[in-house]
This record gives sequence, C-alpha cells and structure tokens, in this order.
Amino acid sequence: MALDILGKLRAAVRDVPDFPKKGIVFKDITPVLNDPALFRASIDLFLERSRGRKIDKIVGIDARGFVFGSVVAYELGVGFVPIRKRGKLPYRTEVAKYSLEYGEAEMEMHIDAMREGERVVLVDDLLATGGTSAAAAALIRKAGGNLVEAQFLIELEFLHGRKQLEATPITSFLKY
Ligand code: AMP
Repeated sequence: MALDILGKLRAAVRDVPDFPKKGIVFKDITPVLNDPALFRASIDLFLERSRGRKIDKIVGIDARGFVFGSVVAYELGVGFVPIRKRGKLPYRTEVAKYSLEYGEAEMEMHIDAMREGERVVLVDDLLATGGTSAAAAALIRKAGGNLVEAQFLIELEFLHGRKQLEATPITSFLKY
C-alpha cells in the first residue's frame, strides 16, 4: 500500500479530546468511513494481510470492528463472528472480563461461533491498552479457534497494548 494512502488515512482520523472522558483523546474514524476512497483503502489494508492465508473466520469487536471486519469477511468469502458487549448476544455465550482505557467491561461470543482449529483473524479499529482484544483472544481460544492474527487500523503504541496480546501476532496500519 502506498505511503500516500497511509498519510491520507492518518490525516482523516480525527482527534476528539476529552471523549468519552476527560483526558482521553478519542481517535474518531468516522471521517474515514465517510470518504469512499479512504473507506475502501482501509478495507484493502486488512484484506492484503489476510488474503491467501486460509482464513476461516473474521471476528469483529463491538462496534467499529463490525464495520471493518464484516466487509473483510465478505471480501474473503468467509464467515463473520461478532464479539459484543455483555447482554447483546441472544444465544448461549462465553464471557470474558477486561479493563478498558476508560472503564471496565465484559465481552461475549456465541459458544457455537467457530469450530475447533478454525483459522481466525481478529479485527478492530483501534488497539489501546489491549484489554478488549485480550478478552476477545481469550474467547476465541476458549472456543477452539486458532487465532492467526489480530489486526487494527490504529495502534496507540504508547499504551503498550501488544503486551496484553503477547501470544498473538499483531498488525496495525496507523501507529501513534
Ligand atoms: P483497549 O481495550 O484499551 O485496547 O481499547 C480498545 C477498544 O476501545 C477498541 O474497541 C476501541 O474502539 C476503543 N478505544 C479505546 N481507546 C480509544 C481511543 N483513544 N480512541 C478511539 N477508540 C478507543
């Protein structure tokens, strides 16, 4: 992918200070989604990482991981699995607790979302402290999934989220 595209994506990500809490600089990706060329370019970044790697499932994290992950799954021709905040999924679930950059939460995944040994890629918009993705990784592994890689449009490197995901290869496209 041309550096030019990464530069344009970076320029489009909007910093919103003090959201959702004082002291947090929120990386707002809606301007990327709003621009058809940039939205496509962001999807292409994920696709280039996963094509040809025999991926069986894309797992997206509530809610912006759904936007990127579902399109990637569609393009790869594989199934999409949502990991959601607790209380949103209707069927039987596994639950994982985690702490966020701004609070505490629980994520869940349907117990029948993947089969033993399936090759899975985790997709989200942003890696911050890594708590959310570590919970998602735990859910995938508990379900028997082979977590091939976790992929993020944005990584806030100063929060060292990678440390929480030490057993998982990580790819991020825009690093701050
Ligand atoms: P964490 O568990 O700290 O890695 O947080 C990652 C999750 O929270 C992702 O689903 C992000 O969408 C969201 N998130 C955390 N921090 C930010 C931030 N500064 N800007 C935008 N989204 C964030």
